[in-house]
Formats: sequence, structure tokens, C-alpha cells
Amino acid sequence: MISFEELIRPLASQLAAHEMAILQKAYDFAREAHKGQKRKSGEDFFVHCIEVARILVDLRMDVPVIAAGLLHDVVEDTAITLEDLNREFGAEIRRLVDGVTKLDQVPLNTDSTSRGRDRDREAEYLRKTLLAMDDDVRVILIKLADRLHNMRTLGHLSPERQRRMAQETTEIFAPLASRLGIWQMKWELQDLSFRYLDPDGYKRIASLITDRRADRDRYMTHLVERLKQLLEQNGITGADVSGRSKHIYSIWRKMEQKELTFDQIYDVRAVRVIVPTIGLCYQVLGLIHQTWRPITGEFDDYIAAPKDNFYQSLHTAVILEDKKTLEVQIRTPEMHVAAEYGVAAHWRYKEIGSTTRGRDEAYERRLKYLRDMMEVGREVEDANEFLDTMRSDVFQDRVYVFTPRGDIVDLPAGSTPIDFAYHIHTDIGNRCRGAKANGKLVPLDYTLQVGDRMEILTSKRGGPSRDWLNPNLGYVRTKRALAKIRHWFRRQDREKMIALGREMLDRELKRLGLEKMKYEQAAALFEIDNADDFLAQIGFGDIHPHQLVVKMAEEEVSRSDEDDLLKLVSTVPDKPRPTTSGEIQIQGTGGLLTNLARCCNPVQGDEIIGYITQGRGVTIHRKDCRNILTLPTQRLISVDWGTTDQENRYAVPIMINAYDREGLLRDIGIAVADEHINIRSVTVNTHNHIAVFNVTLEVESATQLSRVLSKIEQLPNIMEARRMTG
Ligand code: MN
Repeated sequence: MISFEELIRPLASQLAAHEMAILQKAYDFAREAHKGQKRKSGEDFFVHCIEVARILVDLRMDVPVIAAGLLHDVVEDTAITLEDLNREFGAEIRRLVDGVTKLDQVPLNTDSTSRGRDRDREAEYLRKTLLAMDDDVRVILIKLADRLHNMRTLGHLSPERQRRMAQETTEIFAPLASRLGIWQMKWELQDLSFRYLDPDGYKRIASLITDRRADRDRYMTHLVERLKQLLEQNGITGADVSGRSKHIYSIWRKMEQKELTFDQIYDVRAVRVIVPTIGLCYQVLGLIHQTWRPITGEFDDYIAAPKDNFYQSLHTAVILEDKKTLEVQIRTPEMHVAAEYGVAAHWRYKEIGSTTRGRDEAYERRLKYLRDMMEVGREVEDANEFLDTMRSDVFQDRVYVFTPRGDIVDLPAGSTPIDFAYHIHTDIGNRCRGAKANGKLVPLDYTLQVGDRMEILTSKRGGPSRDWLNPNLGYVRTKRALAKIRHWFRRQDREKMIALGREMLDRELKRLGLEKMKYEQAAALFEIDNADDFLAQIGFGDIHPHQLVVKMAEEEVSRSDEDDLLKLVSTVPDKPRPTTSGEIQIQGTGGLLTNLARCCNPVQGDEIIGYITQGRGVTIHRKDCRNILTLPTQRLISVDWGTTDQENRYAVPIMINAYDREGLLRDIGIAVADEHINIRSVTVNTHNHIAVFNVTLEVESATQLSRVLSKIEQLPNIMEARRMTG
């Protein structure tokens, strides 16, 4: 067991006497409280408390945190109460211990065999973690130190519990450390988890590393020496050059992801150069690029454009004389501390006594980031959905892209322009109609690439597309954007949607000559009991009025009623005469309403046949339509195309520009048909995801034309629809 003196040695020179006294008291208090308690390994429980405190000392956390680290288990595992802590150590330490204890009250390890309940608890845990973080991020740092020590000493637990702990660590704690920017902790948690989750993989890589270590160390020592000389010869002093070792888990992951062999990854030499100023960072970079050939595309300036919200460094890779790759990171000491300790660097800077504005800003930005995560947690009510959101949006791999102004936006890998748009602003997302990556137009389901400069093209009004909610279409990948899109649709006033639905349905019923049909009857065709629900669904766009005809066709195919037939047939006069139906004229229907069958979509010139429906006029099928075979022959009548009434219609060419997507032409067709307009011709040219439609419409009036143009323009992905002139 390490002594108190040993524990605080790294801090000793900076501690005031009263701070030393607090830590000494916490040390003694915890030891007394845990007296007699043993861990599974057989050692004193108090050893765990010291080790947790030691991790916090290594992070250079402040005195209350280290004291709370020593005391973190006393409330949960001993008779000590929070009041006792308050009395002995004051409110701040009491609060920190309380925070850690509260996290532990939702155990991640549960004896429940139900996977669902595990997930609920896990989700609840994570939510509490984040809530605690909002109060004081230091609580999380204590919890991470606690988990790290538990992972280091996992060997004494049952294999089942080892596996579970490792799973939780890899799913929750390592990503948490990563998001807090504490890389040291992240790597260790990952390696430890990997060791228990894939013991064979771990052992294989660990032994490969051991085999090559001597060679590698010799080579690296030589390389570091050479670099130091190079810098000194060029007058750069005070540089700290060191070899970087690769972590087991990261080697394994690279092997898996990039399908490389161990040697291919391990052979890559990696060094880090730390120099006092930013100016020197660029000087060092220049020297290295002069000495060896840089690899194209491997240079990244994360000083000018910090990565991961906060990470700063210059990255480059060069080819050495032996043809092997050398990766170099160049940074200042401040950048180095920020990279290694993340959010915990805040306290380290305090220790250094440096309080420049930029550094406090970095800390504030990290906290803001954490609060943003919290905000996601509050928006989502269901614990499981919350967990999914966290997993997919916060903890997965990230992609970094730029706004037009050069700000960095950090999104989950696989995000699309729509995810980006919603990240910038909900309103931008709602009005997003197109996107550019690096100045080039890209489709809305484009997968963002690291470093893309994204620009969103918006319409003046309008909302998101229903298609965006369809996971199969891949327009939206982040749960956050999905939540916002769903919210938009929910927020649309239901009454308004019912009114809109009623208007749309009335128009369709009129078009079909079915004014007498009740909304309930129409709803019943869709198996919806309530007329308002039905109208609302039409209003929301879930049901298109055109589907009504299809539903009726389905009904009529499945029904046969002799009485109805007689009634209808008796109304058919002997002599065929032309009649109009929407845009077409049919001869032989005896003045009955006609509509074109949706199953075979006859067009002028096709051989056609009419089918007398029950009270809904005559449906015109193609003669070769397979549905004809299923219809009662006594209801079939012979019909023919009439001549189109051209006098009152004008052919008008229009042009439509759009970002191509599936179903676009269909949607344009529906918009046009909604206005009872004929399409005379259509041509489409698609180039670089931009589709240009040249369409000739047959319209009755300029008002009708402008109405249909504005309707088309409101369709998702449409940039413009306009009349061609001249
Ligand atoms: Mn503990």
C-alpha cells in the first residue's frame, strides 16, 4: 500500500499547508472507514481508494477532487453518511462524493438476465452521468479514475463479469474519456477492454510488439537522435523529440479497418516534436519536409484549424531513406498538455499558473460541448432512445467538415449534408434543398468526407421532406436531425393538416366525379376508421389523394354485384358519343364519368376497354391489362379514344432544375396531375447529380401555369421551375 507521502509527492511542492492537511485527513478518514474491507483479490479495499486518488494526482486535479477520490466509496460501502462528509470536509467535497455515489446507484452490472432491462439501466446510467457532468465535470473525472483502476484490476473477477465490465468500458467509459479529450485514459481503457473482450487478438498483438520491441527501440533511438541533431544544426533549441508507441487496440483496429498486416502498421515510425512556440512548429515542419519527401495528402494543419473541437498539432508523414514511413506530430507544450489531458488540462494550467484567455476558452468550449450532449439527453424522453442517440451521435467515429466561414463542424461519420444543415441550425435543415461540397454540387444523400467545405442551398420557405425520414433512402444519419425532422412534422398544426387534407381530397373526388362519396367511405378504403385521421394523413402527405383511385380499383376487382350492374347498364345509351374525363376523351362510355386505370395506365393510342364500376363510372384499362381477366365480362364495354379538345389548351415549355433523387420525376408528375394538366413531352438530362427537365405542359391559363410552377418548386430537391421564353 502506498503511503500518503508517496501519493502526493508529484504535488508536494505546490500544496499549501492547509491543502496538505485536507488530503491527509481524507486519506486517514477513508482508511479508517474501509478498515477490514477486502477486494476480490484479497488486498485491502483502501488500496483501490489510493489508486483512484493517484490517477487523479497524475491528472493534476485540484485538492477537493483528490480528496473526493480517496473518499469516493465511503458513502456507498461504509456507514459514513453525506452529512458526516459535509461536517468533516465541507460542502464541495461532499458534493463530489455524492455525485460519484449517485452514479453508482444505477449499477451497470446487474444480475438481471433480461437484456432489455440491462439496456434500460445502461441508458439511465449514461443519462445520470451526463446530468452529473452538467453540475461538475470533476465528478466524471473521479468516476473515470474509479473505472480505470477497476479495469486495471479486473483479473480477479469471473470471466462473465470481466467481459461485461470490458463491454461497458468500451461502449461508455472509453468514449467518454475520448470526448473529454483525455487520450491517455482513453487508450488505456480501450486496451484493457480489448484484453478481456478479445483475449486472443490482444495476446497476438502484444506478443508481436514484444518480439519487435528491441529492434524498434534501437531504431527509434537512432531516429530521435538524428532529428534532434537536425533541429540543433538549424538553430532550433529547446525541442523535445520522442518516439510514439502505438497502442494495442489502435493497432488491432487499424489492421481490421484498413486490412493491413501488423508489420504494415507497426513499421510506421512515429515521432512527436514539441517546441516552445507556434512559429517554431512551422519551422520544424519546413525542415522535415526539406530533409525527406513528404507524402501527399498526409499533411494536416490542426494548429490553424483545430481538430476534434480542441486538438491542435501539425501532422505530416515523410518517406525515410529505407522507404519506411515516418509520421511526425509537431506541437507546443500547451497543445501537448491539452491533447493528453483534455478537459483535465484546465486544472493543470492552473497549476502552471498560466491563465491566458485562449486556454480558459478551450475549457469553456469543452464544457459547452458537454452541455450540448446534455441537451440531446433532455430532448429524448425514452431512456433507450437516448442511449441509441448517445451511441450513434456522440460515441461513434466523427467526421470533421468546414462551414463556408471556415468553422469546424464535428459530426458522426457517415453524416450527410442534411445532418450538417440541421447541425448548423434547425431552420437551415428544414429549408435545405441542395448542398455543395468544396464548391461542387453534391446530392443530399452524399456522405460527408473529412475536410469538406460544406455549403447548404436553401429555399425561402417550405419544410423537410418526408423522404428524409425513410432510413432506406439514407438522407439522414444522425438521430438528432431525425428528431428535429419528426418534430417539424409533429408541430405542423393537425387542424391545418386536416383542412389541407380535406381540400386535397375534395379536389380529387371532384376530379373523379365522386362528390357524393363520404370521407368515411374513402377512409375505409385505407382501413382508417376516423375521417379526420384520414384527412390529416393526406394533409401530412402520408397518403396521396391519387391513391384513392388505386384503392378503388383494388376494391372493384374483388367485388361483383349483379344488381348494381343492371342499374348501370340500363343507363348506357345505344349510340356511343364522346365524353370528357379530366384531360382525356373516351368514346363509348355513354356520358358516364371515366377514369384511367392505375394498374395499366392506358395512354392515347393504346387499345382500351372500359369497365363499369359500381357508382363510380367507367374505368379505362388497356386491352392487354391482366386485371381485365379477373373482371366480370358482362361489365366490360368497348370504348375508344376520342379526340383531345385542344382549342382551350396551350403548349408551354418549362424547365426544371433539380438535385437528382429517386422518385423526382414521379413527384413532378403528381404535382402536374394535381392541377389537371397534361404533360405533352418530357426530356431529362442528368449531369453531376443535377437533373434538368425540359417539360412541355398543356395549360389552360397563365394562372394555372404559375400555380403548377410554384407547386413544383416546393418539391424537395427542386432548385427552380420556370417557363422557357423565346
Ligand atoms: Mn470505486
